[in-house]
Amino acid sequence: MNNNNFKHNRHTAVMHVSATKMSQDYTIEDCKRYHKSKGWSDIGYHFYIEKDGTLHQGRPLDKNGAHVSGFNSGTIGICTEGGLDERGVPKDTMTDLQRLTVEGLLLSLKIENPKMKVKGHRDYSPDLNGNNVIEKHEFLKACPCYDAQEKFKVFNGDLETILKKLGK
Ligand SMILES: [Zn+2]
Repeated sequence: MNNNNFKHNRHTAVMHVSATKMSQDYTIEDCKRYHKSKGWSDIGYHFYIEKDGTLHQGRPLDKNGAHVSGFNSGTIGICTEGGLDERGVPKDTMTDLQRLTVEGLLLSLKIENPKMKVKGHRDYSPDLNGNNVIEKHEFLKACPCYDAQEKFKVFNGDLETILKKLGK
């Protein structure tokens, strides 16, 4: 992957999970096959991060993804493998290696567009009671099984603060 793979002018990175158990292998090829079986032209995500932290390019960033209904224009879809416990219940299963990869990816994307924000798929659920907070009972989906705005809070700040925080 070269730096051109991160060039974009999109306003929000949206985090997802594959919604699979950590005991199961669900590679980018599996994901691509599934999305194509739904009749899509390509994998719906722009980036896919496997359990061991390997970063894969999905759909190129100059094309809209297919990952968050109604909001594919202007957003970047990032999916990490996992998201379910062994009983199949939504759980934050992100490994340290996945987290490091996500942080590096978000930093690269933020450098391309310092105004970019980070959200989770579930943050696009409707605010049914209109209190400006998307609450748990309002989630259309559990995805990404964690609070992305909290977990990657630093990336919603300015670039200088991020660089300081990451000690680079
Ligand atoms: Zn999702």
